[in-house]
Amino acid sequence: MNADQTLAQIAEEVSICQDCALHFSRRKAVPGVGPANSEIMFIGEGPGFNENEQGLPFVGAAGKFLDELLAQGGLARKDVWIGNVVKCRPPDNRDPLPEELATCDRYLERQIAAINPRIIVTLGRFSMSKFFPDTRISAVHGQMRRCGERFIISMFHPAAALHQAKLKPTILADFALLPALLEKARSLQTVIPEINKDEDKPEEQPKQLSLF
Ligand code: URA
Repeated sequence: MNADQTLAQIAEEVSICQDCALHFSRRKAVPGVGPANSEIMFIGEGPGFNENEQGLPFVGAAGKFLDELLAQGGLARKDVWIGNVVKCRPPDNRDPLPEELATCDRYLERQIAAINPRIIVTLGRFSMSKFFPDTRISAVHGQMRRCGERFIISMFHPAAALHQAKLKPTILADFALLPALLEKARSLQTVIPEINKDEDKPEEQPKQLSLF
């Protein structure tokens, strides 16, 4: 199975998942969207009202602002993968519960493995906690740090910046760092020579080599 097929398979599984209570209030699951060869994955918290209706991530007010932030970082939505730590809307937009996060994590882990991005950008504290459980976002926002074999950049959640006007210049400045951080991540990538390249099976070639 290539990465596109794996992502489609995960989306199919997510759409009928009944592994936690969030499926009771689900209208449409939101598995995430974007190219399988994205260099950057953006991971938010969970679907809200509009996302639950449409089955797509970040399509409400926070999504409009995310588009603005992506443009600030020289990116467009079509270039990146965008998803969430939980794939179904928590009722009344409450915070996801630890057991919901734990149950849904296996989907996100498979998505990360399939895409193998150079950089993961976490949006808000729930996705940051997946990689850095004991960190305060105010201390590390906009910084690129290693977690295992990956580069992670923690950003404030776009909705937080919409609710607290004083965060807006900060999150805009953090996203403006993305082109330079992407260049840095690319330069740190370990180049492993490809051997026995089989032109007939391009999907079986490593899409992206190890970063370190
Ligand atoms: N907020 C999120 O964290 N994710 C969405 O998809 C929408 C809003």
